[in-house]
Amino acid sequence: MDERHLSKRLQAVADWVPYNARVADIGSDHAYLPAALLLNGRIKYAVAGEVAKGPFANEEVEITKLQLQDSLKPRLADGLDAIQPDDHIDTIVIAGMGGSLIEEILDRGQDKLKSVKRLVLQPNIGEFRLRQWLMNHRFQIMHEELLKDDGHRYEIIVAQPSVCPVRYNQRELLFGPLLLEQQGPLFKEKWQSEAGRLQQALTQMAAAKSTDTDRQQQLQAKLDLIEEVIDHDNRK
Ligand code: SAM
Repeated sequence: MDERHLSKRLQAVADWVPYNARVADIGSDHAYLPAALLLNGRIKYAVAGEVAKGPFANEEVEITKLQLQDSLKPRLADGLDAIQPDDHIDTIVIAGMGGSLIEEILDRGQDKLKSVKRLVLQPNIGEFRLRQWLMNHRFQIMHEELLKDDGHRYEIIVAQPSVCPVRYNQRELLFGPLLLEQQGPLFKEKWQSEAGRLQQALTQMAAAKSTDTDRQQQLQAKLDLIEEVIDHDNRK
């Protein structure tokens, strides 16, 4: 992968960056995503934020090699601290991390979100809590996507600020409000695999005569919910 050949996952993330957006890609590593958007003429300005020195050095090398110094700014910073007022960022991309880390980054950088019109997020896990954070901070989910790249399933969540309160029920938080509506083939695959994992955990707990009934009930409730949704889908 490089800036001219994004992975299927990163390309799917890039596809949700609006034309002419001013983008902050947080945890950018090689800065491939903003570099690709700039080289394609889709955007004119971006910040590539990185907290770790190694990936930050990768960004600097990449930006110099591509001569993108005027339009792509590498910043060694934690989360949204990479964004400065003069950047006039309207779109934030955070991809390839756990949902709880993405949530933490958004939560700590709330002052930087005031002028943001779109969040393009690609959590590797922990989507429930991330959706909960979005809901609690009035971000409406406008697009959700499940895709498979190199044998791994990925979820993309695109959200925009809402003036009205945003409400999702437990089911929508778990499955994704839009993914739940669509219920595509990867949705079924994902939740069948999760149901198998939960079933296995419950069987092991029973065999070990576990006394952690709270945990067992929690897992069973989640399994019941998944089976209800998958079975409903099978009847369609
Ligand atoms: N975004 C790229 C992608 O999706 O391919 C790179 C993902 S890479 C797995 C995650 C990157 O996020 C790492 O380079 C890591 O250093 C960076 N990162 C982790 N926590 C961060 C934080 N709080 N602020 C900025 N970058 C962070």
